[in-house]
Amino acid sequence: MINLTLLGATGSIGQSTLAVVDLHPEQFQVFAISANTNWQDMVKLCAKYKPKYAVMADENAATQLSAQLQNDTTVLSGASALEMIAEHVQTDYVMAAIVGSAGMASSLAAAKAGKRIMLANKESLVLAGDIFMQAVKDNNAELIPVDSEHSAIFQCLQGGTSGLSKIQLTASGGPFLHTPLDELDTITPEQACAHPNWSMGRKISVDSATMMNKGLEVIEAHYLFNLPHNQIDVVMHPQSIIHSSVYFNDGSTLSQLGNPDMRTVISYAMSYPQRIDSGVEALDLTQNSPLEFYVPDFEKFACLRLAFDALKQGGSAMGTINAANEVAVAGFLDNKIKFLDIAKIIEKTLTQSAHHFPTTLAQVIDNDQSSRAIANEIMLSYA
Ligand code: NAD
Ligand code: MG
Repeated sequence: MINLTLLGATGSIGQSTLAVVDLHPEQFQVFAISANTNWQDMVKLCAKYKPKYAVMADENAATQLSAQLQNDTTVLSGASALEMIAEHVQTDYVMAAIVGSAGMASSLAAAKAGKRIMLANKESLVLAGDIFMQAVKDNNAELIPVDSEHSAIFQCLQGGTSGLSKIQLTASGGPFLHTPLDELDTITPEQACAHPNWSMGRKISVDSATMMNKGLEVIEAHYLFNLPHNQIDVVMHPQSIIHSSVYFNDGSTLSQLGNPDMRTVISYAMSYPQRIDSGVEALDLTQNSPLEFYVPDFEKFACLRLAFDALKQGGSAMGTINAANEVAVAGFLDNKIKFLDIAKIIEKTLTQSAHHFPTTLAQVIDNDQSSRAIANEIMLSYA
């Protein structure tokens, strides 16, 4: 029996993970779960999965949860409890599915404890890629991507990297692939969150609409596959059937295809190197033609360009754009700023932030906080 710790159990990835667990109760057991404030859903999850630990990031939510529980689950709160369940000796696999930089410390704790980390929290790599990858290496942790593009590349590289020339991330282009730039200024949060293919949390849905999600994924790929920016390519593919491709210098290209459903990616991370049923329907190519591909528009999707710029600069620049993006997306979802202001705020924050090469988590967190302060200040002039 494999003991799972699910960080971000109430989210979109958390729910899909539990759907895979439900198909294989003889193989997987939920050892610990966490959420931010949503104690109501956690009450239901505790009743169904009877985990040993339930952690709420928010203290008041933990009190509420604790009052509602009738079983033996221990309720804890705060960031240190998240790290405790990630590194717990009884935890085998950690699903790192907290959204945003709040997920970084617990992902790192899982790496330091040598766990299998099923990494959905791409921010861990964007902010602290060097530190995180070193911890994985030093502690023999197993890092399996839980992002459809990176899982595709990981699967295509199972035969090794001999003769690898480049990897190519596919991008759906989100809801505004064909929307002219001058019409993007009046986009509402509801329109931005209506992704044509994938059902996801609100923050990552906006990131898909601006293509910052792809930008963060370029950085994620740089660390996961140890490749420089000029061996990472992006192609627009609105059907989201090819999840990504790997090009070799003998002219071969390998791609991974499937219906856009994260349960495929999650089940692969849970069963690797085997494969198990995920509940996802088999792909029917005849129902998806034609498959289309376009070159990305770096002017319209300025966030993608900014992410490449940050990767080229290296060091703190990547954490800076992530922090500015989190601030700006929250502002947009709160109707404080317009859709196109997101990229402008990120670009200005990048220009105004000091650039350095952090070597400790404390420096990474410092940079995250100072970049947020700068981004918030800049946002005032757009509100
Ligand atoms: P979501 O918003 O649906 O869920 C986020 C989870 O994190 C929730 O359980 C929430 O309670 C928890 N959380 C939020 N803030 C927290 C905080 N401050 N402290 C502790 N916990 C907190 O998000 P999601 O779509 O499931 O995405 C989760 C992660 O997976 C993100 O990093 C995202 O980029 C990545 N990802 C998601 C998808 C997808 O299809 N949803 C695909 C690829 C990668
Ligand atoms: Mg992705």
